[in-house]
Amino acid sequence: MGRSQTYNDETDHAEWLVRCTGCGFRQRNPRPDYCQRCGSPLEVELDYGEDLQAEQLFDGCITDLWKYGSLYPVSLSHSVDLSLGEGGTPLVRISKAAQQIGVEEAWCKCDHLNPSGSFKDRSAAVGVAWARERGYPGVICASSGNAAGAAATYAARAALPAYVVVSSRAPKSKLGVAVAHGARVFSVAGDFSRAFAAAREAAAEVGLANVTTTYVNCYAYEGNKSVAYELCEQMEVVPEWVVVPVGSGPLLYGVWKGFRELRRFGLVDRIPRLLAVQPEGCAPIARAFAAGEEVKPWSRVDTVVSGLDDPLQGYERDGMLTLVAVRESGGAALAVPDAEILRAGRVLAREEGLFVEPAAAASVAGAAAAKRSGYIDGSGAVVCLLTGHGLKYQRESRDQAELETVGDEVELARAIEKDLGKYA
Ligand SMILES: [Zn+2]
Repeated sequence: MGRSQTYNDETDHAEWLVRCTGCGFRQRNPRPDYCQRCGSPLEVELDYGEDLQAEQLFDGCITDLWKYGSLYPVSLSHSVDLSLGEGGTPLVRISKAAQQIGVEEAWCKCDHLNPSGSFKDRSAAVGVAWARERGYPGVICASSGNAAGAAATYAARAALPAYVVVSSRAPKSKLGVAVAHGARVFSVAGDFSRAFAAAREAAAEVGLANVTTTYVNCYAYEGNKSVAYELCEQMEVVPEWVVVPVGSGPLLYGVWKGFRELRRFGLVDRIPRLLAVQPEGCAPIARAFAAGEEVKPWSRVDTVVSGLDDPLQGYERDGMLTLVAVRESGGAALAVPDAEILRAGRVLAREEGLFVEPAAAASVAGAAAAKRSGYIDGSGAVVCLLTGHGLKYQRESRDQAELETVGDEVELARAIEKDLGKYA
């Protein structure tokens, strides 16, 4: 297959119809950005046609997200060689953490086990495959850490240069993945919204594919639908709730869109209620949900939960789209204090063997808050999405570790015996 040399060349590939979620304006293959007419996020409208054999496709086995390749806006022949096995992550039942939440049946979808250590691999794999297919000379993204690593991973596989723009708030330990894969990382002063604006302007100026994992790239965030596809195959019944840590929220939207497709295919009869969880120090969507108002930008970010510290300055309509999915699913958006998020992270690590970053633990903390406030009644299954691995916080974890020095093997054995006594 030939490849186009510039992003607007005539190609031999399928055309993707894209619709504005605000004014409904439709166009074919627009560059990734917001609607030129009204500024709202765009959404791909895929026509699956008559030949989609949904029941055969959803056969109860999961492999990776390319199993559902015909449901994304990319050509499979341009995508499979990029794959590192992203998606297809384990769904594990949690018991101790379920007690903390206050429900009988709770599960964790382990997206921290994706190749670069976060759920961002789902949108990055699809986004980079799309960018290569359209002939872009390189990719750029704004990131608080995880998306940078994911974009750099797949750009390396696609032999495309990757440029990353981070806010000065981004933890350095999370940027190691991007640097290892050869991405050039630029830092701009300010919060994530500043990095977002800089990447968006540079993409337009230089002609790069903007694969930032907000709603700005409607092709890339289609990859998030795979979470819904996999849950459909991994669970016997549709869960009552799916709990999603949210910055701007394309993961939550992707889960919602995926389940709506499954309902259209006749594979599920309902859509789970969606719970968006944000830290109290940056909760523009939760605040709008509580007040029954529109999403407004957050003025002063004050949270240690990196990855969920997106104030939506200048693109608050992203938050509105997330809120639409929350409301239409019959769900909720809640804010939880950092301390509860960190405590949930400790429970997951110590009681469940799940080492995740604070942003991921926010799902469990949020589920507990939703149970306390009566949104979750505890009767059906609750699925918490674990979005990012704890290993990328290695430096922080190591600094916190309390190491005990022993003089010799005798002292070591005594210390262990004494400790074991606590469990007897
Ligand atoms: Zn529009």
